Amino acid sequence: MKFKLLTLAAMLFSTSAFADGVHSNTIKATQLTPNVHLLEGQGGNIAVIENADALTVVDTQFAKDFDDIKSAIGKISPKSVRYVINTHGHNDHTNGNEAFVNAFNATIIAHHNTTELVKAYNQTAAKPNTLPHLTFEKSFTFQQDEPINLHYFANAHTNGDVIVHLSKANVIHAGDILFFGRFPFIDVKNGGTIDGMIGGLNGIVELADENTKIIAGHGNVASKAELQAHIQMLSTIKDRVATLKKAGKSLADIQASHPAKEWEASHNWNFINHTKLVESVYQSLP
Ligand SMILES: [Zn+2]
Repeated sequence: MKFKLLTLAAMLFSTSAFADGVHSNTIKATQLTPNVHLLEGQGGNIAVIENADALTVVDTQFAKDFDDIKSAIGKISPKSVRYVINTHGHNDHTNGNEAFVNAFNATIIAHHNTTELVKAYNQTAAKPNTLPHLTFEKSFTFQQDEPINLHYFANAHTNGDVIVHLSKANVIHAGDILFFGRFPFIDVKNGGTIDGMIGGLNGIVELADENTKIIAGHGNVASKAELQAHIQMLSTIKDRVATLKKAGKSLADIQASHPAKEWEASHNWNFINHTKLVESVYQSLP
């Protein structure tokens, strides 16, 4: 009986909490600089760049979380979102596109190749507002309070990766070229390669100084020194896999030799473990 009463009380409590509209926001906001905020939730990290008359948002996570994202943005600033940048086409960075267009009439900017990937993920036949409105090939700069510089790095995480560089704020959004503190996903099917990923990361190093805040697509904000250590890890794993592949070893043999052994404990995560990383490195090497 006692148990039943407790259960009933728990049910009543949860029902009333629901009825009262109690809802814990799934988005964590962190201010990085006076005009740049990071929003972490499910999916890729979002950057909100505040300008005098409007906001620019980098990546849009999932449509299902849009109300939480919008309310987090509203706490940063009452201004409207004029531009949305997609760092690449994966669903966890672009699924909220349509919601941003509908709510703010935002213009979506991305690399030319990203359009095809967004189409594949978001089934845009029925949802035209998910597609980028403005695309470019190599680099693109648009002027807000400071220039917002977009640079394309070929065949890195996908075939459409763009990083966002704010030289005055000294912030870089690396998109999924950087999975920080965990093994990266290299989307080989969609043009990703280990060499392109390392190339893109080195490109970011060239733009950074010791005070630059580097927003990862997934994981914590990194410093230039931390980015360099991440590159060192990937280069070491790549060199080991390349040597074994050249010697004619099979993928299974190479995986069994644990070429990422020093980092397995710290960098394995539920989506990409060392086995999957080695597979993508192996497949993307010549
Ligand atoms: Zn991605």
